[in-house]
Amino acid sequence: MTRIAIYPGSFDPVTLGHIDIVTRASRLFDRVIMAVVVNPGKNSLFSLETRIHMIEEALGSMPGVTVESFEGLTVDFARSRQASVIIRGLRAISDFELEFQMSQMNKTLYPQLETVFMMAKQDYTFLSSSMVKEVALLGGDVSSLVPASVNTALCSVNHNR
Ligand code: ADP
Repeated sequence: MTRIAIYPGSFDPVTLGHIDIVTRASRLFDRVIMAVVVNPGKNSLFSLETRIHMIEEALGSMPGVTVESFEGLTVDFARSRQASVIIRGLRAISDFELEFQMSQMNKTLYPQLETVFMMAKQDYTFLSSSMVKEVALLGGDVSSLVPASVNTALCSVNHNR
């Protein structure tokens, strides 16, 4: 039986925290699909195509990991890919409440699907896409926190403003 997991998120943009989670998850499952939400419900800095492209560049050829986009409910996407697991990363305690609510709701919508939480690596506990954007757009150096292609993209957004 092939164990398929999806790792959903906005990834606007992908950070080394996300890459750490998907790398560790790829050792636990046969296939991991990084599932990029089409409309994050907030204005994204990067287009869907750019977000996907940056993830693909960062992953290189990581065995068993692919990138797709999806619209609508995460559980519907999981079902359509025969995934049995949703992976989510947990950072500080502040992540817990929303993640807890979402996992309960997803369990109600699709009882066969498990949410597996992975703790953020210590170096990335306080790392978020929104913090990276805020700091980078104010001219701060985030090169140790994001893949090289993301750093380049953030620098060019800044130059073009
Ligand atoms: P969303 O908008 O769905 O929260 P994100 O792209 O912000 O999408 O995050 C996707 C997932 O990755 C979430 O489960 C989030 O908690 C997790 N995540 C975000 N940043 C980190 C990090 N630095 N370390 C570990 N997990 C993280």
